[in-house]
Amino acid sequence: MRWHAPADLEEALLLREVHGDEITVHAGGTFLGILMNQGLIAPPALLSLGRVAELRGVTIVDGWLRLGAMVTHLEIERHPRIRSGWPMLARAFSVVASRRVRAVATVGGVLADADYASDPPAAMSALGAQAVLRGPRGDRSVSMEQLILGYYTTCIEPDELLVEVRVPPAPARAVYRKFLSRSSEDRPCVTVAAVHGDGGLGVVVGAVAERPQRFDDLCRLDADALGDARQRRELAEAYAARLEPISDVRGSAAYRRRICAVEVRRALEALAA
Ligand SMILES: Cc1cc2nc3c(=O)[nH]c(=O)nc-3n(C[C@H](O)[C@H](O)[C@H](O)COP(=O)(O)OP(=O)(O)OC[C@H]3O[C@@H](n4cnc5c(N)ncnc54)[C@H](O)[C@@H]3O)c2cc1C
Repeated sequence: MRWHAPADLEEALLLREVHGDEITVHAGGTFLGILMNQGLIAPPALLSLGRVAELRGVTIVDGWLRLGAMVTHLEIERHPRIRSGWPMLARAFSVVASRRVRAVATVGGVLADADYASDPPAAMSALGAQAVLRGPRGDRSVSMEQLILGYYTTCIEPDELLVEVRVPPAPARAVYRKFLSRSSEDRPCVTVAAVHGDGGLGVVVGAVAERPQRFDDLCRLDADALGDARQRRELAEAYAARLEPISDVRGSAAYRRRICAVEVRRALEALAA
């Protein structure tokens, strides 16, 4: 296996353009490592982004948070500006796996692997984040709904890299909940990311289907309705009824549907508190 470790972004993009599908991007390696160790993939060449300093920045521009693709989960969890400005995001990254995994796993990696049982995608979707993809045709900015197409499938072209994630100013209230059905370091069985602010109410349920689920037509509650326990429960039940949950080792479809009704209700209670 060939190992390419470009020193800057220009070289990384060039390698990606020249080799396309023949080269596999390696960020933190926590997802790839498992696939390779289990013999599920055997890439002929790896493109390590480890030395690309341009992908490591955390900045705030016009109130938007910009995360370079190689920023790690631990950095997001601990960064003082993220903790104060986007506490829900810091929390969603802080509950991923173990500290050892979070120390190397990157924001680019967790979005590009598009694993359905992940924490950050639902949080990013609820916050209205955009992923910036760069390739020979230039930059394009895509929402989480446009980025994640299905199980382990994204819209990233073979000659593109995910270079940055941009998160708009945080809404007034935001909540992230992770429901685990096995060990404390496991991937989620159900996640709920909920926001309420000038843009109204948004609720995204993760880990229950091939991609994060959001039903904006169900979320037309004003602040008064959000304060009403009956309306919160009805909305949670409507979400659970609309979902088509999967069954896997973390829970059956029926179990997930019940958990969803409870977790969405609890998230709405936290928003209203
Ligand atoms: C033990 C364990 C427990 C875990 N538990 C959780 C959990 O509770 N919640 C959760 O959300 N996740 C969990 N994960 C998943 C973990 O978050 C992901 O493995 C990790 O985020 C992937 O990031 P990485 O930087 O290691 O990516 P890599 O493994 O390096 O890459 C992942 C994929 O993305 C592609 N890629 C990476 N970066 C880019 C880029 N910039 N542009 C284009 N393509 C790119 C790679 O080619 C590869 O296909 C767990 C993982 C482990 C090993």
